Amino acid sequence: MTITRRTTRLLHVGRVPVGGGSPVTVQSMTTTKTADVDGTLAQVYALSGAGADIVRITCNDVAAAQGLAEIVPRSPVPIIADIHFQYRLALAAVEAGVAGLRLNPGNIRKEEHIKAVARAAGDAGIPIRVGVNAGSLDKDLLEKYGAPVPPALVDSALKEIGYLEDVGFHDIKISVKHSDVPSMVESYRLLADRVEYPLHLGVTEAGPPPGGLIKSVAGISTLLFEGIGDTIRFSLTADPVEEAKAGRKLLEILGLRERKGLDLIACPSCGRAEVDVIEVVKEAEAVLEAEGLPIQVAVMGCVVNGPGEAREADIGIAAGRNKGHLFIKGQVVRVVKEDEMVSALLDEARRLAEEGVEARLAAADVTAADLAAEEAIELRGLQGDANKAAQRRAAVAEVASE
Ligand code: SF4
Repeated sequence: MTITRRTTRLLHVGRVPVGGGSPVTVQSMTTTKTADVDGTLAQVYALSGAGADIVRITCNDVAAAQGLAEIVPRSPVPIIADIHFQYRLALAAVEAGVAGLRLNPGNIRKEEHIKAVARAAGDAGIPIRVGVNAGSLDKDLLEKYGAPVPPALVDSALKEIGYLEDVGFHDIKISVKHSDVPSMVESYRLLADRVEYPLHLGVTEAGPPPGGLIKSVAGISTLLFEGIGDTIRFSLTADPVEEAKAGRKLLEILGLRERKGLDLIACPSCGRAEVDVIEVVKEAEAVLEAEGLPIQVAVMGCVVNGPGEAREADIGIAAGRNKGHLFIKGQVVRVVKEDEMVSALLDEARRLAEEGVEARLAAADVTAADLAAEEAIELRGLQGDANKAAQRRAAVAEVASE
């Protein structure tokens, strides 16, 4: 399935293109004090390594604006300054050299202030995100609509955009974030019908994982499948590295970005499992993630169904009785001891990345596939009634006949 993206205007956040058919990008936000330049930069580097293309940093006082002046030239990714209430801090952030601004229409309300910021951003050649948030909606609109309903969020965005357009400013992207997923989806759909500006998607105040992840995935994916959305952020109550990772992973899963690192698939485990799948997966994930190879790896709990069910994976391992069956594209290439499963997987993953599938299949142990097939038959025989179906049916029949 291919996603047909909505046509939007192209703008640039530093060297990162947004809109106009550019790849959907991942944003995240630092949680450090901006005045702590080294601490903030360390987090920016961590976010960039985890998949963030653009990082937002609060500019909430003069010390923060001064911090930005030092952070921006040393950052590996473009920095956007997050501005609330004080328009002068937006001007200071422009002076500090940021690649973009985020303004909240709910709390910078004077038209002349917004226009002053737009002129400064225009002179600096940087974009502005109009970041409407249900939790801080303009008071007049709250009174008019009675609640932060989707049309109120869209009205707020359009009003702010009007001020920017009045001074000839069009490097705009917009977000209309809501903490309620259906309202968030509806707000973006309404907005997408009204403007051609690129949209930044997010469920605001999504909370901690797993709930925050689920809300974000539900809202953001729904819109991305409809072709709506040019940048995304998971607003999690967690280490921001987790939100950058989650954002990147979502785009890779939807086929909107190339796989940058590991894609680990694993069976949920069941009565047939010959190992503690959860432990093996944890161990494998740790070593493979550290390796940073862009491959899909499968960890399966048994050789009965494992290699077949994971045949699309680049490489995988399925547990046999005290053994591990290492497979490439579903073909078993080596049988290793159980306690060597993870190290063998890592070793083969490295070789696969270096030599390619054909070469590694050619180097397969010719007896491995037969060994695996024999063991699968043996295990099927031993575990044929892994769910104890006959015994349970008999027990049910007994109760029914009492
Ligand atoms: S691969 Fe084996 S252990 Fe894992 S869920 Fe499937 S049958 Fe169960």
